[in-house]
Amino acid sequence: MPTLKTSPYDVIIIGAGINGCCSAYTLAQAGLKVALIDQDGIASGGSGAAGAFISPKISKAGELKEIMSQAHAEALTFYTTRFPQFILTKPLLHIANSPKESEKVDAFKHETHLKHSTIPRTIQTLLSDDALNASSIYFDIGAVVDAQGVCNAMAEGIDFYPLKVKELMHNEGVWYVGELQAKHLVLTIGAFPKLLPIDYVGIRGIWGHRIDIETSNHIPCIFHHHVSISPTLKGGIVAIGATHNVHYSPFSGERYDVEQGRGQLLEKANKTLKLNNINILNDYMGLRSGSNDYLPILGRLVDADATLTQYPHIRHGERVDPSEYIYYPNVTMINGSGGYGFVLAPYLAKRLSDFLVEGKALNPALSPSRFFSRWAKRQS
Ligand SMILES: Cc1cc2nc3c(=O)[nH]c(=O)nc-3n(C[C@H](O)[C@H](O)[C@H](O)COP(=O)(O)OP(=O)(O)OC[C@H]3O[C@@H](n4cnc5c(N)ncnc54)[C@H](O)[C@@H]3O)c2cc1C
Repeated sequence: MPTLKTSPYDVIIIGAGINGCCSAYTLAQAGLKVALIDQDGIASGGSGAAGAFISPKISKAGELKEIMSQAHAEALTFYTTRFPQFILTKPLLHIANSPKESEKVDAFKHETHLKHSTIPRTIQTLLSDDALNASSIYFDIGAVVDAQGVCNAMAEGIDFYPLKVKELMHNEGVWYVGELQAKHLVLTIGAFPKLLPIDYVGIRGIWGHRIDIETSNHIPCIFHHHVSISPTLKGGIVAIGATHNVHYSPFSGERYDVEQGRGQLLEKANKTLKLNNINILNDYMGLRSGSNDYLPILGRLVDADATLTQYPHIRHGERVDPSEYIYYPNVTMINGSGGYGFVLAPYLAKRLSDFLVEGKALNPALSPSRFFSRWAKRQS
């Protein structure tokens, strides 16, 4: 832990998952003096659990698709040029896991500019009948990053403080986090309890589990079906993940049943191909934080109390332009990336940097303020 600086930082980032680490890296590259804080160490939250695939999102036309497609392209370039030792590229076979997904896959296949081809015979022979008969798309390029490796590499050279933040204070243009000071605060705390009274921000945590295994099977490409089955950068080790458990929360005090989670992962993997001589090496578990409308969150935070005091009729449906809301000074949030945190992080960090360093406007569609008026109406 670096000795405390007497001079303030330009920015304090709370949360050292992929969003915090990628923001720290990008802002430091842009010349800002950055402090990075985490209660449990680097990549200890959802990011440490992630399969960390850099995969396209198979979705229908619209803003989400545009953003995900741009983010996917930027992420591939970012990781391969800046952190080549932490990315493995392999073809990616995406197989629909339901009739609804089939429709999406077929439509996506028709429209995408991403290079894809017919499934090679050698891969077809590995697949179960179910997988073979479902709609699918075989991308020539898929990728997976080493989640913990890349987060640590991004944080190298950044002042890191292992602290649990309990309180944020702001006085005369300066944010105080313990003894640290900065003009700007960036909150990248994923699905952990919020640090400001911002209940309007529509996010929820979804628990996931993945495993690293040894198997006698050779896995020649990345498979996404009921779960993902993928080669990794750790020679010979295959990753299987992840479950989506909406019922479990680590904050409930309940114990998570690891054995049962392993069983579910292997059962789902076997629906794609038969894995033999399995030896489970490691379990990774964590919460991914998804937004209610599936778009990621990047933007300034509305001070709900101050805004409702100024505009009490918002509660009764009065329309106030979001530019008139009262915002916490110099606080920006990145969150809500769902299962695409590693895909979105370079895209979001670049726009955060353009905003903080060059004053470029952020996309209002990603602003956390988009949730505010609906929430305010429920407060009447
Ligand atoms: C099992 C699983 C598989 C996944 N697979 C993929 C995938 O293949 N591809 C992909 O792109 N994404 C994947 N994801 C999603 C991805 O992991 C998340 O979107 C991403 O990790 C979100 O990162 P984050 O930095 O926002 O949050 P987190 O990684 O959760 O980081 C938040 C950090 O904030 C810290 N923190 C919180 N509160 C405080 C406090 N008060 N004081 C100090 N520190 C605090 C926490 O300790 C934590 O380290 C997966 C997620 C899971 C769980």
